[in-house]
Amino acid sequence: MPEGDSLHRAARRLQPLVGQRLEASSPNPRAQVTGVAEAVDGRLLESVEAVGKNLLLRFEGGLVVRSHLRMSGRWRLDPRGKTRSGLPWLVLRGEEVEGVLWNGPVLAFESRSLGRLGQDVLGTDLDVASVVARLRSAGDRPLGEALQSQRLVAGIGNMWMAEALWEIRVSPWARVRDLPDEILAEAVAAARRLMQASLADGRPGRNVYRRAGRPCRRCGTIVSSRGQGDANRTAYWCSGCQEEGGGGPVA
Ligand SMILES: [Zn+2]
Repeated sequence: MPEGDSLHRAARRLQPLVGQRLEASSPNPRAQVTGVAEAVDGRLLESVEAVGKNLLLRFEGGLVVRSHLRMSGRWRLDPRGKTRSGLPWLVLRGEEVEGVLWNGPVLAFESRSLGRLGQDVLGTDLDVASVVARLRSAGDRPLGEALQSQRLVAGIGNMWMAEALWEIRVSPWARVRDLPDEILAEAVAAARRLMQASLADGRPGRNVYRRAGRPCRRCGTIVSSRGQGDANRTAYWCSGCQEEGGGGPVA
């Protein structure tokens, strides 16, 4: 069973990824459900440390992921893009190497360091009305940024934010304060629906995410992209068919 020392070795092994903006994925469906990969994808990894039997991975924006290895889990560092058989829990891809978590039975957001997390968007008992109430606290922040704030609602990353807002024809730059409750509820419900479909069927077709410069599948307008929020994560949207609600990108 991995004890503190093996956790420290794992932390040391992953140091080459610190300071890099990582591409994250969860090939294992059981790990996808945690929402961790979506939430950390595209974020800068600030530190990795072993605390007791936990590995804490701190990402920009105050997001902390806790990995507990229990009996079976292990972290490896592989060359970027290494082919492998099997479905790792988490792959954190840097410029030259990637950290790979196998059989990680515990992979979660560290709630103590975050303060209270928002409801899990994939939770079976999701209460959309109370998520909407929390989103209201984002005030004049853009909706795309608010949907990715794990304190307001947990589990949505920039891919699902972009796809959900394209679905409901609302721009990620629309200010939360300018939107009625029904639109906020639709945004949360759309993200949930798309994420559930992805869990059921594997990877879905993308309509705007990473499609900047290409025509919108709905209206043909060229898809835009721009960094958003403190973490400067890239938002993708169609200015032709997604309403900005009087907001618009801030120069
Ligand atoms: Zn469009």
